Order: sequence, then C-alpha cells, then structure tokens
Amino acid sequence: MHKPLLRIPYTDPFARPTIIPRSARTLEGAIAALHAFFTSPPPSGLPASTVVISGAGISVASGLADYRGTNGTYRVNKTYRPIFYNEFLASHEARKRYWARSFLGWSTLHRAQPNAGHYAVRDLAQLGLVSSVITQNVDSFHTKADPNTRTVELHGYLRSTVCTSCREEFPRDSFQEELARLNPVWAAFLRDAIASGALETEDPVEKRARGIRMNPDGDVDVPDAPYTTFRYPACPRCLLDPPRLASGTKSIVEIDRDGAWNPTSTAGILKPAVVMFGESIRNGVKDAAEDAIEGAGRLLVLATSLATYSAWRLAKKARDLGMPIAIVNMGGVRGEDAFFAHLEPSQLGGEGVRVEMPTDTLLPALVQELRRSGFHGEIISPARAERERGDAAIFRDMLS
Ligand SMILES: [Zn+2]
Repeated sequence: MHKPLLRIPYTDPFARPTIIPRSARTLEGAIAALHAFFTSPPPSGLPASTVVISGAGISVASGLADYRGTNGTYRVNKTYRPIFYNEFLASHEARKRYWARSFLGWSTLHRAQPNAGHYAVRDLAQLGLVSSVITQNVDSFHTKADPNTRTVELHGYLRSTVCTSCREEFPRDSFQEELARLNPVWAAFLRDAIASGALETEDPVEKRARGIRMNPDGDVDVPDAPYTTFRYPACPRCLLDPPRLASGTKSIVEIDRDGAWNPTSTAGILKPAVVMFGESIRNGVKDAAEDAIEGAGRLLVLATSLATYSAWRLAKKARDLGMPIAIVNMGGVRGEDAFFAHLEPSQLGGEGVRVEMPTDTLLPALVQELRRSGFHGEIISPARAERERGDAAIFRDMLS
C-alpha cells in the first residue's frame, strides 16, 4: 500500500488573502464574523461543533519560531535543511549531530509555555463550540493548556522519544538527563549558555556576543566538543531483550561502559516521537484526524498556511463535506480561494471567514465577546437550525 510521506512543505509565498467578510478587517469586525461563524445554524445534516486545525503561528507568542513570515516566505534560516528519516536511521554520525543540537535546543522549548491563543481554544471548547483539535505542532501546548479536549498531534510530539525497533516511548526529560550525563563537556557548555542568556536570543550576532559561535548554516560550535564525540543512550528495553530483525535473526544492542549506544548495534535506536521528513504519519493518527473532521460541522484553521499536504488534505476534506471554514492566519494559505469560492458576498461569517490577525489577541477577545453576549454553549437543535435556515432564505428572498 502506498503511504504518503511527510514532505518538505511549499516554500513559495502564497498570494495575499482576501478578507471575508469585508468587515473583518478590524478587530471588532473579525470578532463579529467569528461570532456569526460559531453561532449560525450548521449546514443541513452536519453537527454544530467545530474542529480546529492549528499550526506553528499559534506558538509564536510562546517564543517559538514560525516557519514563515507574514509574507509567507521561510524566515528562520534560508539554508535550513531538516534531517530526513532515512538519514537518521542509517547514520550514526547524523544522529550524533541531531541529538547534540536537540540537547542544546531542548532547554528553550522546555521553558516555553502555552500562550493566550492556546487558552482561548480551551475556552472555546469549554463553551461547547470546539469539539476537537488537530495540531501540526510538536510542542504539546494544546494538551498542556487543555488536557480534556480531544487533540490529534498530526506530526507527533517532542515530549517523548520512541524506539525505532520496539516502538516503546520514553520521556524526553529523562533522555535529556542521560544526554547530559554522557556528554559532560556539552552539559557544562549548555549551563554556561543558559546562564549568559545566549539561548534566549534568535539573533546570531547577539548569540556570538554571548559565547555561542554559529556557523553560516546555523550549526552551533561548541569549543573542544565536536559533534563526532557526542553520545546518546540506547533503548533500555531493547538493551535488556534485543528484538528480532525482519530477517528473523536476533538483533545486537550494545553500549559502551557509560551506557551510550554502540555502533556495533543493529537495533535500539531512539528517535524523537515526531514525524520526520520522509517518514509516514502512523495510520492510527491519520484515522483519528479524519474522524475529528468527520465528527464536526465546521472547521477553524488557526495560524497555519496549510503548506504540508497532510494538513491541507484535511481542510480539503472539510470543504468537500460542505463544512463552513474560518481561517485565521498571518499571510496567505495554500489553495484558500477554493475554500471560499462558493460564498455569497453578502454573508457575514456564518458560511465562511478569512481573517489576518494574531491568534493570541483575536481569540481571547472573541471568547470575551461570546461570554459578554451571554453565550453559554447552547447547542442549536436541528429543528431550530432548520427554522433559522428557513428564516434566512426568507430574508434573502425579501432582499433580492
Ligand atoms: Zn526498543
């Protein structure tokens, strides 16, 4: 069976969005449009609940980098080239390099917290408006802000490592402690870098001034500690009981005297529990995402350009099912014109919304407005929806 692999997303800028309805250019207008989006009767046969698809932009206010600037171009690092799954599996050198960088980066991610945008999504769920969240982010902020709402982490999560042989997962936190123990020079360097504040800045000049030397390709140079000396632990489970390989023979899992994975091994390699480029999304996750779309009657797209095919495909499915779509994103979104082409120019948000505003300001203001207007999560009955649709048709007839 053909499995779609996670590919490098589009890097070309998308066209600037057309704001829908036109009144949604101001904060007040955007709130009114989303209010109408959430409280209008759902299309015939669809439930009133909303599914959210979120992306990197929602975590920008938490201090994490977005992949795209507001004009839709990549801005983190022009020469950025992520590691591919096959490369990670095949190369001990590539893994050393990956884990060394991850070791330095973990403290920044670990300190970061969900922001007002994530908490507003939780509030929308508590109001009975949002039924589930599909996120492309691997930072676990949605589940941290709201452990109760069903959340599908489409591209996995950094909070765990997973064994590429036995699929057992382990907490990334304790893995970090193991990395520190196995790489004392790096651990000392990291302590100094944190103390100097060098990891808190994205600015390469500032980083250098505070003691981190960045190469032109974005790599970090640690004095006296090249990547080639970096060590990482083996899967503890495979170490105790080496699994059988596809060929049927028992694998070899060996460690050095400190416990680091030894290149004589043929199994027991841990990777982050994220979907790497060139790796396929697990069937269970794909099914859960599709169930979340099918179980809802509306789609709210938050802070993503839908550049990855796996996310765009879900939005396309929602459109094909006749679900109204609201998009809140800075910059253009892949194929967005097709999501809104059917809308009547006079609709005020009930059938579709396109807003260009940061989620951490817009969504909390929306929640506040919903509460102020006395919305407490009443579910619109199909009979009432039918009645209201009838009323809307009558008004349309009167106006035409
Ligand atoms: Zn294992």
